[in-house]
Amino acid sequence: MDQTNVFSLDGKLALITGGGSGIGFDIAKCIVLAGGSVVITGRREQPLREATETLGERAHYQVNDVTERALLDNLVETIETTYGPIDILVNNAGINMKKPALDVTDEDFDRIVHTNLNAVFSLTRACAQRMIARKRGSIIMISSMAAYYGIDRVAAYAASKSGVEGMVKVLASEFSPHGVRVNSIAPGFIETAMSKTAMSGDPDRFTRAMRRTPMGAFGKPDDIGWAAVFLASEAARYVTGVSLPVDGGNSIGF
Ligand code: NDP
Repeated sequence: MDQTNVFSLDGKLALITGGGSGIGFDIAKCIVLAGGSVVITGRREQPLREATETLGERAHYQVNDVTERALLDNLVETIETTYGPIDILVNNAGINMKKPALDVTDEDFDRIVHTNLNAVFSLTRACAQRMIARKRGSIIMISSMAAYYGIDRVAAYAASKSGVEGMVKVLASEFSPHGVRVNSIAPGFIETAMSKTAMSGDPDRFTRAMRRTPMGAFGKPDDIGWAAVFLASEAARYVTGVSLPVDGGNSIGF
């Protein structure tokens, strides 16, 4: 290991789903700042184009909807043919919806689980096959503290993120003997469009959220970005199968 900069991602290529905005954009930004290259994906081209312009020449994009699971093998093939082997996969794309459980339709539930869990499995499988053949890789899931706590009105979201957390441990057990580490980051309240929507329409919600957060503030998207750099880097070479809370202390529990 190069002891001078164990956090360097020099020469590494990362695929980051949902990288055109929010947390995904900052994960891409931090990986580029750490020396890596990124391919970001999302359903809308304009934010992806603007994001890559901001990120610079080591950033590229592919328009892709992760719920089109039959296209994910092709996505990985196209990226590897064009930009080289994917060293880091960050499954960040996700959706949420706040509704009391009794109002959640089967369609609502399926849509959220399809995006946040089923697609994550399919894309991970597509990348992991290639990583295992090369005997190197780091797979990072962006899960949520909702996987661990009974936050009201997010039944489908919590189910999907809990599924991801369970999957991380199994995949880490299966892939780590082949040089591929699998971990997750469980963000707390992070300032993005998703959390703004979640807080809207209920003025007390912010106060309640901060009461649960010992650090007394929302996190910034790059707080998740730097955690991803750590997990992707040589500094975390002996770290696999963990869920890293980045949540201002929410997970302390009090
Ligand atoms: P945003 O809504 O701000 O961004 C979500 C991103 O995912 C967008 O770039 C969106 O792009 C993309 N995306 C959504 N659906 C799809 C799809 N089907 N295919 C491809 N891309 C898609 O969310 P955040 O940045 O806040 O959240 C990112 C991740 O962090 C999510 O997994 C979320 O669950 C998790 N998280 C966030 C927290 C927070 O407080 N913000 C807390 C805990 C976890 P487009 O619309 O163009 O497809």
